[in-house]
Amino acid sequence: MDKGKLKEAVGRIIEQERLKIIDWSKAMASKPELGYKETQTAELIRAAFAGLGLPTRTGIAVTGVEGVLEGARPGPGLLFMGEMDAVVNRESSAADPVTGAAHLCGHHLQVGIMLGAALGLVQAGARDHFSGKVFFLGTPAEEFIEIEERLRLREQGKIRYLGGKQELVRLGYLKDKHLCVLVHAHSGLSQRKMLFGGMSNGFLAKSIRFQGKPAHAGVSPHEGINALNAACLAILNIHAQRETFREDDKIRVHPIITKGGDVVNVVPYDVRMETYVRGARLEAITDANAKVDRALRAGADAVGAKVAIQNIPGYLPLIQNPALSEIAKANAISLAGEEGAGAAGFEGGSTDMGDLSYLIPTRQPDSGGIRGNVHATNFEVADYEAAVIYPAKVMAMTVIDLLFEGAEEAKRVIREFKPEMTADQYLSFMQKVEES
Ligand SMILES: [Zn+2]
Ligand SMILES: [Zn+2]
Repeated sequence: MDKGKLKEAVGRIIEQERLKIIDWSKAMASKPELGYKETQTAELIRAAFAGLGLPTRTGIAVTGVEGVLEGARPGPGLLFMGEMDAVVNRESSAADPVTGAAHLCGHHLQVGIMLGAALGLVQAGARDHFSGKVFFLGTPAEEFIEIEERLRLREQGKIRYLGGKQELVRLGYLKDKHLCVLVHAHSGLSQRKMLFGGMSNGFLAKSIRFQGKPAHAGVSPHEGINALNAACLAILNIHAQRETFREDDKIRVHPIITKGGDVVNVVPYDVRMETYVRGARLEAITDANAKVDRALRAGADAVGAKVAIQNIPGYLPLIQNPALSEIAKANAISLAGEEGAGAAGFEGGSTDMGDLSYLIPTRQPDSGGIRGNVHATNFEVADYEAAVIYPAKVMAMTVIDLLFEGAEEAKRVIREFKPEMTADQYLSFMQKVEES
């Protein structure tokens, strides 16, 4: 069979099995779970892999689940992921009534795309033509949330880093993976279209504690040190840095106060803040972070309080591999014409795909079929065909291009790729952030 025929066969099978594939997405949406707690989701994906006859492995970075499609001949390892975690938005009608978790980032669609591509490739017998392996992975904890709870998981030794893909690197999971792909839903893109080449910010997270001195707030405030005043000044000091942030660096600093005091008639002496420092370049994040630290310390200094700053490694900016984008884009156009593909712009958000993109060729195109915005109450699937079936076909075809007979395309992409860091350099970078 030639490559074109194989692509056609896979596309036909995905089309025939479209309802089954869409049902996987819907089943996942009906049981939204937060990062590192995606147990039912992982079981759903494991059962789907097993049903396709793929060897499975569970418990990867706590909840991750893998199914492996092994080609007839040896070759590169292609990591094809679907994120498993939900976000919290209690105003959404899709939210779990207890946890508030809801699939408003479209991760259930990603998983449908991954499983749909896996189904098409398996049932068309693609493995007979492949050199290398496809590692399908339901990957945990992309949303960087529930920071205190995850820091407790870290204390218990269950994780070291808060993001799932950071953990994949730490655990050496990337050792036999040479390329990686994932498709993400794009806000407001309702038609059948995929966007290529988008960028996103990196960030580091900060946990901050201002320590003052308790005293009676009415009788003897002069004997106290007001940690809430320190925090308020610190926030104003951060605002005063903003005119120094360059447009191109896309810096975003958005602190919240998570504890403003204990009781109203005692001078606040224990005040906690969290913030991200986001930016498009690592150097810009480091520069902005130094200014934020200065602002925090000055707030404390002004009232004689103390401040303890804990830096938590966030995500790296996303670098899309242009060669991978070209291959996938050509497949999108061959299925849906020029209308089926477009260019993505800059995203102010962040993803742990960024971390992987520093190490191996990585691509995260955006998919359509969505109304409203990700994480927002108005998010909804407008068209499952556009949101799941079309990208599943595009991705399956892309896998075929990469691994078909000798895997020459995958080898070319790998050869031309210049990593920003090795896995060891990445891990020492992470350690340096923690110690800063
Ligand atoms: Zn999200
Ligand atoms: Zn997401």
